[in-house]
Amino acid sequence: MAKFLFVTDLDHTLVGDDLALEKLNQWLSEQRQNYGTVIAYTTGRSLPLYQQLIAQKELLEPDILMLAVGTEIYYPGSDTPDSEWTAKISPGWDREKVVEIAKRFPCFVFQPPLEQTSFKVSYYTSLDGLAVTIPPLKSMAKNQGLAVQTLDCYGGGFLDILPESANKASAAIYVQQRLGFTDEQTIICGDSSNDLSMFENMLCPAIIVGNAQKEVLAWHEKAPLGKRYLAKNHFASGILEGLEYFGFYRG
Ligand SMILES: [Mg+2]
Repeated sequence: MAKFLFVTDLDHTLVGDDLALEKLNQWLSEQRQNYGTVIAYTTGRSLPLYQQLIAQKELLEPDILMLAVGTEIYYPGSDTPDSEWTAKISPGWDREKVVEIAKRFPCFVFQPPLEQTSFKVSYYTSLDGLAVTIPPLKSMAKNQGLAVQTLDCYGGGFLDILPESANKASAAIYVQQRLGFTDEQTIICGDSSNDLSMFENMLCPAIIVGNAQKEVLAWHEKAPLGKRYLAKNHFASGILEGLEYFGFYRG
């Protein structure tokens, strides 16, 4: 075995089946110790919400932690995000302005403070009308010199507004390049809409866990063939199945 960069979403991907998680943790831990495999988590959670999760679940300490949908990147022992990444995603972003613009749309309801971060503004939305409110919101943002992207889960009623240059894919690619891993040496795992940027924009082997959201399954069916594996098993068990499929793991 050689070292690789293991990038995984947390909720409903790595986390969801405690027994399978234990098995995967043990294997990953050996890979890290013996070969220098790098373990990277990527999640929509903010730092306080990530800390809540690690208080409840047995997670390995990651080598790289990408929070708030890729807008913050942390390394072990530091509570300060990677400043180079922050500088890269800052142009065209002004949180106050984004909040002011979104206030004009009554269908957006501000999520609780713990969900809000410097580079992610999060709302609950009514399902109807999202398709008609996003274009004017985006053009208002553009007219004010902002460069934003919206991440919406039509099925879920959640909307994140992020800098145009930041999402799970761009953060993972930044980490991949910074650490010098090729696509063949990288693997990504996810289940939901905010993982789609990785599945769409990264050329490395990708594992979609069997319990993936229907939006992701629908995308998978239509998207061109790639190094992508839809597992039958759920959560960490689906990750193990995918790792075996790609020849990283022998069960
Ligand atoms: Mg997830």
